[in-house]
Amino acid sequence: MIEKIKVLLGIEKKDPYVRDYMESSNMRAVKYMCSFVIFVETWMIFRIIRIVLFGIETRSPEWIKVHLRLYILLIISSILMLLYALAYLRGKLRSHVITQTFKGAYCLISVVFGIYVSYLDYIKGEQIMGFLTMVLFVTCLLVWPPLISVLIITASFGVFYYLCDLAVPATVATDVNMFTTYIAMVMISIGNYRQRKSEALKDAGLEYTSTHDDLTGILNMYFFREEAGKRFKAASSRGESLALIYFDIVNFKTYNERYGFTEGNRLLANMADVLKEIFPDGIVARLSDDHFIVLAPPDDPEKGVQKVQEKLVLEQGDVYLGIKAGIYLTDGMKKDKSGVEDINILCDRSRFAVKSIKHTPDICCFFDEELHELQRRKHYIVSRIDKAIEQGHIRVYYQPIIDAKSGKACALEALARWDDPEKGLLSPGVFIETLEEYRQIHKLDIHIIEIVCRDLKEFFSKWEEVLPVSVNLSRLDFELCDIASEVRHLAEKYEISSDLLEIEITESALSHNPEELDRAMNNFRIAKHNLWLDDFGAGYSSFNVLKDYSFDVLKIDMKFLEGFGKNERFEPIMQSIITLCDKLGMLSLAEGVETEEEYEFLKKCGCCRVQGYYFSKPVPIDKLQRVLAEIHFEGGG
Ligand code: C2E
Ligand code: MG
Ligand code: MG
Repeated sequence: MIEKIKVLLGIEKKDPYVRDYMESSNMRAVKYMCSFVIFVETWMIFRIIRIVLFGIETRSPEWIKVHLRLYILLIISSILMLLYALAYLRGKLRSHVITQTFKGAYCLISVVFGIYVSYLDYIKGEQIMGFLTMVLFVTCLLVWPPLISVLIITASFGVFYYLCDLAVPATVATDVNMFTTYIAMVMISIGNYRQRKSEALKDAGLEYTSTHDDLTGILNMYFFREEAGKRFKAASSRGESLALIYFDIVNFKTYNERYGFTEGNRLLANMADVLKEIFPDGIVARLSDDHFIVLAPPDDPEKGVQKVQEKLVLEQGDVYLGIKAGIYLTDGMKKDKSGVEDINILCDRSRFAVKSIKHTPDICCFFDEELHELQRRKHYIVSRIDKAIEQGHIRVYYQPIIDAKSGKACALEALARWDDPEKGLLSPGVFIETLEEYRQIHKLDIHIIEIVCRDLKEFFSKWEEVLPVSVNLSRLDFELCDIASEVRHLAEKYEISSDLLEIEITESALSHNPEELDRAMNNFRIAKHNLWLDDFGAGYSSFNVLKDYSFDVLKIDMKFLEGFGKNERFEPIMQSIITLCDKLGMLSLAEGVETEEEYEFLKKCGCCRVQGYYFSKPVPIDKLQRVLAEIHFEGGG
């Protein structure tokens, strides 16, 4: 009840945003009101000057002195009020107390002016417009809480009526007019207040949803950037450093799937609460999904991360939950310009740090010079891939695959190389992973297939014997494009028979996007391409893959051969895989063969095909013929 009365009187505690909104509206009104008053009063002063100079009206020197003073007083106070309003609107002065003092003082001066001027008019039987205008200005154009506006209006009308009535007793008509005007002003002032307040509340709501994350109530990405930018600016001007910590919840997706969205949302809200609790002086925001960011003072961010991990893990059910955090420490922003763009770069760095430990047991990683170099390299690769393709810096090296029985090359594997004019020869280990990470790998793969098709048509077709070429596909090719149609299109363009183009799919591809993959594999089969399973044994789902998919060739990952001569279990395992291939109707192919012993052993086990440095490293097409001739000689011997 008391609260309701307070709201009615406009004296309840207001949200700072609503208060600022209403104050700003008042200051905007002040701009126009004061300009108008300055103009009118200046004109009045000119009128007095004319009276003095030309004696147009008869006014006593006393009248002229008093009025001149009043006009000047009103002009000066209007100018001061106007200057204050301009400073306020530019954000230079934002003190609530000072604003109220200015407003109050201006209001008092205006009302006293109005009362005095109109009193003089009234006793001469003239209209009292000056008084009405001033009260209207300060209580209806400027908005006050109802309690204050009603007090101002009542006091002004009371004093004015009392003075006038004392001098010349008011008629009934004057009483009625005064009373109705008084009521009208009270109503207008209250109406204006309500209207302004509801606008402020609506705006505050919009402001909230555009700056806050609905789910967790903390800042959203856009507003975080704005707020963090300001904090950085302030810190850099004091030469202070800050820690930007990017958080990622490990296994959030699994948790969501296991317990449903409601629980997943609860976990996110909880994470936000934990972050606010552990970093009370920080700016906490949710960027997207389970990605949070905190800008905090630099004191021991690792300890903070540890505490977040401990608190969050308490929450888990039977899904393992953990966090990963990437930390970027600024050195007082000496190197970076402050501003929105820089905060984006810094967020990127902390995210990069967290990504770098995605597959490690670490929970926390600082963005250091080493990571910075890696980031630069990745950016280089991603930003140059299109140009590299266009300008022919992407090349294909071919590595022969040997038929173990005959010792002759029976196929070639196409391997991508990037011959960069600035960085020299880059190996796939450097760029494949990056292109996959930035989802650009399909561009490279399609280009490699095109080079292979062109080589098959222009070079290999002129050779005595044309060897089929296997190309490597990334698991992302199945997501990023219709890879089977791309291959068909290129094979048609270069008139390549499909048995010359074989497709290597890595084991890891098969545990992702089953639908797209199934469709593409079917299409490859329909087009009569042989399908090879690459890197068998490198992942965890090897045998499941064999159960679900059929392949023509199975490439045993070269990691297996590392056990040769070192591990007694190696031989029976290798033997069993080769036997398994026979039973499933697949050709076995061992990659990474580096020594004669390995080769002899594999032949003994019945391995169909071998590939490795023992026979040849991958070579460019102009060296291939010579390499193949040597292999014929060595292998056959
Ligand atoms: P992969 O398909 O398993 O290719 C075999 C890798 O082993 C090649 O490395 C090859 O140079 C290397 N290698 C061959 N014989 C030996 C050996 O005896 N000893 C050792 N230590 N290594 C040997 P490379 O060319 O660096 O390629 C690495 C991986 O990059 C490839 O593994 C493949 O997964 C990927 N890759 C290469 N080219 C492409 C491509 O055009 N597209 C896609 N998506 N991936 C590619
Ligand atoms: Mg391969
Ligand atoms: Mg392989």
